[in-house]
Amino acid sequence: MKNSVDVSIARPDTNRQASLVAVDCRVHELLLRQERQERTTLKLIASENFASSAVLEATGSIFTNKYAEGYPGARYYAGNEIVDELENVAVERLKALFGCEHANVQPYSGSPANQAVYRALLSPRDKVMGLPLPEGGHLTHGWAVNFSGTDYQRIPYRLHEKTQQIDYDRLRETAKRERPKLIWVGGTAYPRIFDYAAMAEIAAEVNSYLVADIAHISGLIVAGAHPNPVPHCDVVTSTSHKSIRGPRGGFILSRNEDRYQPLYHPMSKHNLAKRIDRAVFPQLQGGPHVNIIAALAVALHEAATPSFRTYGHQIVRNAKALAQALLERGYDLVTGGTDNHMLILDLRARPLSGKAYAERLAKAGIITNFNMVPGDRRHPALTSGIRLGTPAVTSMGMRETEMVQIADFIDSVCRQPDDQEVHASVRREVADFCTAFEVPGIPDP
Ligand SMILES: *Cc1c(COP(=O)(O)O)cnc(C)c1O
Repeated sequence: MKNSVDVSIARPDTNRQASLVAVDCRVHELLLRQERQERTTLKLIASENFASSAVLEATGSIFTNKYAEGYPGARYYAGNEIVDELENVAVERLKALFGCEHANVQPYSGSPANQAVYRALLSPRDKVMGLPLPEGGHLTHGWAVNFSGTDYQRIPYRLHEKTQQIDYDRLRETAKRERPKLIWVGGTAYPRIFDYAAMAEIAAEVNSYLVADIAHISGLIVAGAHPNPVPHCDVVTSTSHKSIRGPRGGFILSRNEDRYQPLYHPMSKHNLAKRIDRAVFPQLQGGPHVNIIAALAVALHEAATPSFRTYGHQIVRNAKALAQALLERGYDLVTGGTDNHMLILDLRARPLSGKAYAERLAKAGIITNFNMVPGDRRHPALTSGIRLGTPAVTSMGMRETEMVQIADFIDSVCRQPDDQEVHASVRREVADFCTAFEVPGIPDP
């Protein structure tokens, strides 16, 4: 016998064409069901999108197999020449799109990216200012149960009671009193444009770092549909899977130099960019997900096209059209409308909780998430709000007229939330409505 190794065991995929259905029909069946669901429902979750087939192909590529601890040119594993090129492509594309000095594409997602910022800039117990979760901030901006709330002193800043927008005057007062070391600007449920210049002024007055978290809006920024925080901030973090329509992951943009600890400062061994890199690896992570870096590079290539600019502006036009149509149907919106891709329905005056409405809407094929609204009296697991977003339906090619139709679907369900027949008939209409559009990454049935 020439070869005593049983190749059928040694190679998981002897037949290179063996497909998912042949190997694991259970998971394959779940995938088909998820495809069918996404093909026939309205994805209005503000943080979700449809990545392109090219992005999905790179995500599912053999780059998933490679270990590449370290950074291009300084890896701890051999055979990374191609991966070095790949990571450099992703980094250069980010720097070009955002106009920043430094980019790190290794964070596993948005929360780990933010964690790296804490590691790079702060010591435990330092003061951190952020928008509280119920007012639209993210868990990682100093929420009590998160590491950012337990390991650091959290100093919340608030929305203006009337406008429900950031109260920059009060923010300045709080910052002057508390003298935080880091101020976050960004959120998960804030439907307005952030005034980065005003935040930068305040941060400079109190010698604080200013960090923008653009997880939701990075696609809008690249498209020119929302201002770019990069010129105003020390560091900018993002996810790569929301409006920018890449794979699930995160990235960090920064200046090279630390304005508070320049390299000649006795405390600083490394510049800001190097400290960010070291915080990601080796302080927090091991090997980067090379397949995700490949897919991010593809998404950034797509994001640099004129059609992505059109896409980003259409997201905002659609959100404004949906907001207008809902206002006309008697709904309250947090801040009274939107400047970006999301709107938050304020259901405090209605009989059911946000969770209950989200469940009823899902029965009718309208997929949303429930969300706290400013001044919410309900438990965070129930809430009085629903967050809606237009990135995914805009990826399907929908425009303003479709938003009016969507408002009608939502209204039908919310007016008779406990009528099963209404759920069923809207569900059929939604499915019909969706078949007129292509869903990126999902084959037509
Ligand atoms: C989504 C989001 C994150 C975190 O992203 P994950 O990938 O879920 O960890 C961080 N910050 C903001 C503002 C977000 O919206």
